[in-house]
Amino acid sequence: MKSSFTSRRDFLKTSALATACISFAGKFSTFAADEKPARKIGYALCGLGSLSTNQIAPALQETKFARLAGIITGSPKKAKAWQARYKLPDNCVYSYDTMAKLADNPDIDVIYVVTPNALHAAHTLAAAKAGKHILCEKPMEVSSAKCQQMIDACKAAGKQLAIGYRLHFEPNNLECVRLAREKVFGAVKYIEAGFGFHAGDPNQWRLKKELSGGGPLMDVGIYAIQAMRYISGEEPISVTATASTTDTEKFKDIEESITWQLKFPSGLLANGNSTYGFNGINRYTAHAENGSFGMEPAYSYHKLQGKRSDGELIQLPDLDQFALQMDDFAKCILENRPTRVPGEEGLRDIKIMMAIYESARTGKAVSLV
Ligand code: NAD
Repeated sequence: MKSSFTSRRDFLKTSALATACISFAGKFSTFAADEKPARKIGYALCGLGSLSTNQIAPALQETKFARLAGIITGSPKKAKAWQARYKLPDNCVYSYDTMAKLADNPDIDVIYVVTPNALHAAHTLAAAKAGKHILCEKPMEVSSAKCQQMIDACKAAGKQLAIGYRLHFEPNNLECVRLAREKVFGAVKYIEAGFGFHAGDPNQWRLKKELSGGGPLMDVGIYAIQAMRYISGEEPISVTATASTTDTEKFKDIEESITWQLKFPSGLLANGNSTYGFNGINRYTAHAENGSFGMEPAYSYHKLQGKRSDGELIQLPDLDQFALQMDDFAKCILENRPTRVPGEEGLRDIKIMMAIYESARTGKAVSLV
């Protein structure tokens, strides 16, 4: 199976997007400058934590085809604060227990699930049952079975399911995809990718396997896996991995650090790493026949940049990735066309991460075919 960046149609789409990024210098839009939406798609945010507060809600103030139309929260206090800040009336405020009532609200088209990983399926299923499209944060869930349930529920409801892979809309990453697909430096032979950070608070849900499904691999290593897949344009066939922990008090049931190696059908190898133990890894490099290219920082919200072995910098406009993704999904709904980051894309990463964990646990290579 090919990755979502692989097909010629997708490549042309992403390539055109990369071109659009450059031509709309300063005020970027993936859409025609004078394009007016017939209506804006209403998003309700499910889970009002850090990402919703600091990235998604502000991004919804920048979108052209989307708007903040509702909130779903377990905290009446948060609801009041959000209502005041975003002028949201009482009839667009829900709790996790009243999500069925979303069915009666035609102003809400999409539920954006932004809760801890192991709650994504429950909230997606509730949203699908209420007849809404779903944009669900990464990682999609904590097991392949739960991902499949989400895909099936959205299909049964006739609604779209997209995963929060914001870098599929980010100009610099798309430029690296172009360099790979056009073989500007020849065929890519080897990819190194890693993403990690120091996880400070020992009590956060990210360190509890029940809610997170795993450690840094599930949280941020997933970006390195994504980079390996969208740069190679292939799906891995086998994996080996090693996990380790230096602070056994803090990291009781998840890994502190993990390294893995993926083998792809063409023979391309990729080495990855992820950690909660320290800051400083946020990069990928693709080594090709006649040179190399890559990004560092590669996965942050802003100020991404890259380098090519011929000395050229990769530095396309610094845009709001969340606004780009939400506008794109809104357009998919308005035009009744599929998202480029569907649930199936999220499921692929979960299968790879489960194989990485299995290899780390057993010490054996795990086949993915
Ligand atoms: P957070 O802890 O800041 O927010 C989580 C929210 O879920 C909180 O409002 C919390 O109250 C709510 N919640 C509901 N039920 C809960 C329960 N049983 N236990 C704990 N919290 C509960 O987390 P976050 O950083 O906003 O992450 C939310 C999701 O977004 C995660 O899936 C994460 O992986 C993803 N995320 C994605 C990106 C990205 O760049 N795309 C960045 C950060 C987080």
